[in-house]
Amino acid sequence: MSSEAKKPKISERRKFFTLLAQNAGLGVMGGLLWAGYADKAKSSTLTLRPPAAIEEDDFLKVCIKCGLCSEACLNRPQNRDKDGKQRPGTLKMAKAEDRATIGTPFFVPTDVPCYMCDDIPCVPVCPTGALDITKVTNKKGELDPSMIDMGLAVVDQNSCIAFWGIQCDACYRACPLLDVAIKLEYDKNERTGKHAFLKPVVDMHTCTGCGLCEKACVTEKPAIFVLPRELALGKPGDHYVKGWDKKDEKRIQNRVDSDITTHTKRSDKKPTDYLNQGLEGF
Ligand code: SF4
Ligand code: SF4
Repeated sequence: MSSEAKKPKISERRKFFTLLAQNAGLGVMGGLLWAGYADKAKSSTLTLRPPAAIEEDDFLKVCIKCGLCSEACLNRPQNRDKDGKQRPGTLKMAKAEDRATIGTPFFVPTDVPCYMCDDIPCVPVCPTGALDITKVTNKKGELDPSMIDMGLAVVDQNSCIAFWGIQCDACYRACPLLDVAIKLEYDKNERTGKHAFLKPVVDMHTCTGCGLCEKACVTEKPAIFVLPRELALGKPGDHYVKGWDKKDEKRIQNRVDSDITTHTKRSDKKPTDYLNQGLEGF
């Protein structure tokens, strides 16, 4: 009885350890899969952050994903429809399926744009400085929505119907900085000879990236849309200076001379080396 009776015990123990190992293995695999998934859901360069957000790399380090900004946005008293019902807030906290680091606040203008509230309630509640109140505080010490800078609106002139000559000023009228951040530029329609174009032109210095224009655009996919500034703008570099513009001269005042020399892999070679590349056979 004794040896026979012990057999099931050994087998049970083996089963237990096998299961434990399997579960541990699954746990590690699950962890790896989740890490890969979470990595994919990392911040996209297209992510639009709340007002006064600090530079993206620092933002990701400083934001503790508490959601206070998004809560303040949702609960602001103005965020009610005419029946007093709460509307969705502008700021969302990213979920796994969103194009932003999970748990961080962002917004999508075509869902809900930023209404540039006078008191910018989403900013002062941030406990970490990920939303930096000084970025939206004017010299008088007041919160100033015109100082918000979340991105820059860009017009796709090929799909904007105002550039076709069809009358449309939806984006111009939706802009909270009317006739400042978006202006209508008059142009003669040479094709018809008797009509005019009224083309929306965005002023890069005053546009806050609120996205109200993008939301208002009448085309199937908005012909005006907000991008983070780094994506929307080019960079002339220190080689080119507007000699007639004092502000632009200031831009290069602190340059180091070695900074203004473009250095590429080719710079390390003599011109004859790379100019003759591929001609060895001749
Ligand atoms: S300023 Fe924009 S993001 Fe902030 S609370 Fe108002 S609507 Fe929301
Ligand atoms: S309040 Fe500040 S720390 Fe909290 S989620 Fe918003 S940005 Fe991040």
